[in-house]
Amino acid sequence: MPIAYSDADLLRLAGRGAYERGRAYAAEGRVEELDIGEHDAAARVRGTRSYAVLLTGDHWMCQCPVGVNGEFCKHCVAVALVARAYVVSPTVIPPTAPAEAAAGDDSEAEPDRYADPRLLRQLVNQLAGVRGPLHDWEAVDYAQNVGLLLDRLNAAATDRPAELRPVLERLLTHIVNALAQADDWTGAIADVLRRALALHAAACRAAPPRPERLARWLARFNLDPRNRFTASVTDYAVALGERGLASYRREVIHRWETEPDQAAVRRARDDLARFDRDAAALVKLRGKELSTVSQFHAVATALADIGEWELAIEYAERGLRKHPDDPLGRLRRFLVEAYLHRDRPKQDRTPA
Ligand SMILES: [Zn+2]
Repeated sequence: MPIAYSDADLLRLAGRGAYERGRAYAAEGRVEELDIGEHDAAARVRGTRSYAVLLTGDHWMCQCPVGVNGEFCKHCVAVALVARAYVVSPTVIPPTAPAEAAAGDDSEAEPDRYADPRLLRQLVNQLAGVRGPLHDWEAVDYAQNVGLLLDRLNAAATDRPAELRPVLERLLTHIVNALAQADDWTGAIADVLRRALALHAAACRAAPPRPERLARWLARFNLDPRNRFTASVTDYAVALGERGLASYRREVIHRWETEPDQAAVRRARDDLARFDRDAAALVKLRGKELSTVSQFHAVATALADIGEWELAIEYAERGLRKHPDDPLGRLRRFLVEAYLHRDRPKQDRTPA
């Protein structure tokens, strides 16, 4: 549902003074470039200076000196009133800047509103920063707000990847922090985290940062014990280049040697081993002391995944010799598939 603040809401949020000044601004036609989304409204308000405003129901954002401190200022009031008039009576044509109105194309106005990196950082902090745990619907609302923000960042990331990269890194820090404190019962926060990661990886490919800097960021992100997600090194390999990869590899392997049982470290090491097609590391990670059927099976499937079929078969056969009963038939089923794959003519083979 589009946002619609009542007068009582606005009075409560802004206070009498800002409310009256915002009304005057709206009446004077100072709200421009209004863009009403399904759950938000963005506009510019012309005063002594022109300020960008974004309202998303529970959150608001204005570039002005009062708004940057988090207050619901007169500019927010003005945008809320004009947006409400439009929502209540859709025949009212939303005001646009004269040039854009003439061109009939608001795609020109879009990058402009998100062009100020300072404003973007504030927006990210306001929408994605959390101060405490998120319960029940709070987690869903949070994911929806961040999803909206990502919709907006999507276009900007294509146009200005170098500028957006640090903004996305800040956003990712906030989401990891939120996720660590949230009951993400619908998985919606995990979804926005994946989206933000994909956007970040794309921005890095489009405008690669210094390799060491990116390697440090990736290691910090992946080795954070609160983080349950791994940004796959495969998605960053091009941007990292040989130097970045070497530096990332050093950091992950070092951490794995010192903290082999920490979950985030294990995930990062596993991801790296797959990228490197490092069979020995996969065996060590998944096989441990190679005693149970599960360990043999995990090693065999990981090796098959990286295309090491002969080695995979060897481990599955070893497992079967040690556990001839193979209670769930996992090793036998795996071997049937692996033998078929091995004996198939080469040109029919599809990568695993
Ligand atoms: Zn303001």
